[in-house]
Amino acid sequence: MNQEPIIIIGAGPAGLMAAQILAEKGFKVQVYEQNKAAARKFLVAGNGGFNLTHNEEIISFVKKYEAKTIQDIVQQFDNKKVIEWLSDLGITTYVGSSGKIFPTKNFKPIHVLKAWLDQLEKLNVTIHYDHTFLDFDDSLVYLQHHGENISVKYSKLILAMGGGSWKKTGSDAKWVPTLSKKNIEITPLQSANSGYDSDSKFHSLQGQYLKNIKVSFQEQHKIGEIVFTKYGIEGSPVYYMNRFTRKHDFPVTLHIDLKMNLSETEILAQLQGTEKISSVLKRKLKLSTTAINLLKTLDKQSYLDIDNLAKTIKKFPIEVLSFRPIDEVISTAGGVAFSALNSNLELKDFQNVHCVGEMIDWEAPTGGYLLQACFSSGVFVANAIVNS
Ligand SMILES: Cc1cc2nc3c(=O)[nH]c(=O)nc-3n(C[C@H](O)[C@H](O)[C@H](O)COP(=O)(O)OP(=O)(O)OC[C@H]3O[C@@H](n4cnc5c(N)ncnc54)[C@H](O)[C@@H]3O)c2cc1C
Repeated sequence: MNQEPIIIIGAGPAGLMAAQILAEKGFKVQVYEQNKAAARKFLVAGNGGFNLTHNEEIISFVKKYEAKTIQDIVQQFDNKKVIEWLSDLGITTYVGSSGKIFPTKNFKPIHVLKAWLDQLEKLNVTIHYDHTFLDFDDSLVYLQHHGENISVKYSKLILAMGGGSWKKTGSDAKWVPTLSKKNIEITPLQSANSGYDSDSKFHSLQGQYLKNIKVSFQEQHKIGEIVFTKYGIEGSPVYYMNRFTRKHDFPVTLHIDLKMNLSETEILAQLQGTEKISSVLKRKLKLSTTAINLLKTLDKQSYLDIDNLAKTIKKFPIEVLSFRPIDEVISTAGGVAFSALNSNLELKDFQNVHCVGEMIDWEAPTGGYLLQACFSSGVFVANAIVNS
């Protein structure tokens, strides 16, 4: 058994998972975290419902990640294993609407975290708070603690410092320039699971929801709910499109199907009677007030042309201008490039230094897929170290 300490930087879900697996195998593990508490972003993720993974066959589950390496890693420690792990911590789960997996109502996010930290304590994992990573070399990691610079010897170093959104949770991406200076390839961080800024003609709809609609971008489609904001649109179907729109120059156009259960021909047939358009939209097509308000943003001629209106109800164009600023979005794309890592997520140029979690260059939609990949990559690197 290796008695040299394994040092993990970052007490988020990816780092803590690596710590747990290594400690269970008898390794001495020390975690260093710049905050005064662990896993602040993990707790923030629980604010709107603590969606820890997703109930889905693994074949379609892994398609949520473009990065092949992450697909393989998630397959090895999959959604079922996350549920088992939670169960071992005493946390029961249930499948919520649209397949999201949550802890049962008796467990708040803080209870889940506490159960996990208690388990880590039993395994003798020490978490040193108030320690900020500064740099590393072949055998030492340099940290700042209460204004003083210190160094700690490592046998293996796991970097688990997260992405760059929600800086106030500690994920401030200050590691980017440090790693770049070492010629480690970093794909620039970009907003992911982000709303879009839109044309100002939609801003008057601020606060209004469109439910049960289909958002499309080219051949990609996602059903769900969106909300108009003072700057544009938010909601999981638009977040889903981030990965595809990222490959194009803005502005790009998303399309919304406002009446999924009727074809364009059926809609046109309803509009062709003598009844006023506004009455058909409301009474016959049963469109929501928001959908009708959206159609009213069309110019008069387009609104009154029923052929065009039927088409537009099935394919309403929303031109989007940009992603929202990084700090306010749920996650970031980009990070340590796979080209800088070997098959064990170890830096090619720095033996014994591994990366896990959101700081690596992958992205995924919300719905539990982000946390799943963070857990899975923590397990993967820990096992790679155990087997090395
Ligand atoms: C509002 C919101 C909602 C979310 N909802 C969901 C959801 O529903 N489902 C889902 O799957 N995911 C969700 N996520 C995303 C998920 O929380 C993250 O993907 C996940 O926490 C990333 O884990 P990580 O361990 O890689 O990094 P992080 O959780 O970011 O942890 C990194 C840790 O490293 C520490 N650190 C950073 N730099 C240093 C340094 N220089 N020195 C020392 N320590 C450092 C940080 O303080 C932090 O504690 C949400 C995120 C947000 C913000």
